[in-house]
Amino acid sequence: MERNRCIALACLAVMLLTSGLSRADEPPENTLGKRLAQAELAIANDHPRAEALLQQLHREQGLLDPQQRHLLDFLTAREADLGGQSSRAHRIYTRLLSQVHSRPLLVRTRAALIAMDLRERKYLEAYTQANTLISELPDITDTRIRTEVLYTMIRVSVAQHQYDEAMRYADEMLASTSSAQAICKARAYRSQIRIYRNEPTPAIRGDYEQAVRSCMHAGLIGNANALRLDWASRMIDDGHPDRAIAFVHEIAPDIQRAGFQIHVTSLHVTLAMAYLKKGQFARARAEALTALKDNGTSSYNWTLQSAYDVLYRVAEHDGNDAAALDAYKNYVAQANAASDDAKAQALAFQMIKQKVLEKKLRLEELGKQNRILQLRQSLDRKSAENARLYILMLLIVLTFLGFWAYRTKHSQIRFRRMARHDSLTGVFTRAHFMEQAERILERLNKAGSPACLLILDMDHFKRVNDRYGHICGDVVLKHVARLCQKELRSSDLYGRLGGEEFGILMPSCTANQGAEIGERIRHTMAGSSVHVCENESVTVTASIGLACTDDCGYTLRSLLVRADAAQYEAKRNGRNRLVIGQTGSATSMA
Ligand code: GH3
Ligand code: MG
Ligand code: MG
Repeated sequence: MERNRCIALACLAVMLLTSGLSRADEPPENTLGKRLAQAELAIANDHPRAEALLQQLHREQGLLDPQQRHLLDFLTAREADLGGQSSRAHRIYTRLLSQVHSRPLLVRTRAALIAMDLRERKYLEAYTQANTLISELPDITDTRIRTEVLYTMIRVSVAQHQYDEAMRYADEMLASTSSAQAICKARAYRSQIRIYRNEPTPAIRGDYEQAVRSCMHAGLIGNANALRLDWASRMIDDGHPDRAIAFVHEIAPDIQRAGFQIHVTSLHVTLAMAYLKKGQFARARAEALTALKDNGTSSYNWTLQSAYDVLYRVAEHDGNDAAALDAYKNYVAQANAASDDAKAQALAFQMIKQKVLEKKLRLEELGKQNRILQLRQSLDRKSAENARLYILMLLIVLTFLGFWAYRTKHSQIRFRRMARHDSLTGVFTRAHFMEQAERILERLNKAGSPACLLILDMDHFKRVNDRYGHICGDVVLKHVARLCQKELRSSDLYGRLGGEEFGILMPSCTANQGAEIGERIRHTMAGSSVHVCENESVTVTASIGLACTDDCGYTLRSLLVRADAAQYEAKRNGRNRLVIGQTGSATSMA
């Protein structure tokens, strides 16, 4: 009951605070803005003036910018709210929530709507909006609006019996505001919360007294009275009804002066309870009846419940069963209403808690999915990178293989060339000459075409070496090789058989043609000289042996033997000559 009473008083405090805190402190930008600010101020202090100003502003609505028009609507709703036109106020606030883009006005509208819903016991709506509001709180930097939001959140937390949370909001509100009215409200709530939490009276006395002083200083006597009535109830609960009665009488002039009916009723109920505790039944009954007279038409509230409770106990004491039964019925009706209201609050709280939990789980799930997606994307990115890396590696390997193949091929070609060509003269080596000669002869044999083989040996070549040195001998050898080459056809096979001895196989060549070519070579050689050192030229001659297929057949070996024998013959016959090797004899041409 104590708690319900405090909450009821807090509802009034919300109305007073939300109107008190919403004065526009900013300098108005133009006359319309100025008049809007004046209307806002008047709503808290002077209702007729506020109404007149708002009506005037509505007539000039066309001159307002969209933001000013929204502010006008907000003030109109607030005026309707304070004037008791709840459904109209509710309608305007709700519409504004979907229209307003300015964060400060949006937040103020939400806070006002929550206060209204709590007053009308629409807990689910209030808690739903409060959830949104709390998420908007970190973005609110304007101290005045922040204070307004924090105050609404204290109110919501208290309704949800979340006292620790309410205390935190109250502390934050106290720390962030310098407004005397806000300080009064925050301190009053702190004291009330400590009373709700049943903290021992001596522990909370300091807070309570400071809160009352703050509210008196801020001119919010109504808030001070609400708190002081709570304190009087606490005195009764602590077993000091005399002190409570004295205290209530002491604050009675303030309560009458402030003129809040709910406090006047509360005063009588408090006295009724104190007298009942003292056993002064007649006085208790009189005070309870006064309280009920003032509150006759109200629906559920804590004062009615307490008043009927007192009447029931007094009637029971007096033995007036009929009156006791009547009072008890009323008491039960109020108690049920209180219990329904408490259940509604608890249910709304649980539903919202559930929704918040669901939302949190959904967000966590979304977060998880998001993380999975990010992981998947990073995996995709990584595999793409890997694929690129693989391709690059493959390209490198292929390039390397290609290069390696090229190098191998190149080496093979070089080695083959080295194997085929004599490094000094550039003509075919003996091995290659032999191999090619065999094949050519085989082919010619099949074709029935003649061929001739010439073997050339330099005359007295040792002397050249001895006289000019080996290197000069090489120069001469190269020169000789070139000279011969010039006299040959492309189809002729030409090789160095060893030392200063050369072999030439001439396909499709008769003995006469072969002898002619051999002679031409011999003449050219003998007629040319090669420069070996300064002012020194050398002329070399060659002895040449010739063998033909007509005579020896197509066997390379027999051709070589015959040509070699002819060449020896040429040497024997004096050198620098050509000898045609024939069966049984050789024919010298020189
Ligand atoms: P002949 O007229 O009887 O043939 O006399 P020759 O001095 O030419 O005697 P022979 O053919 O027996 O000797 C060949 C010489 O050729 C021996 C060697 O000194 C020389 N010779 C062989 N190969 C090379 C070579 O690659 N470079 C040089 N500079 N000399 C070589
Ligand atoms: Mg020789
Ligand atoms: Mg020789």
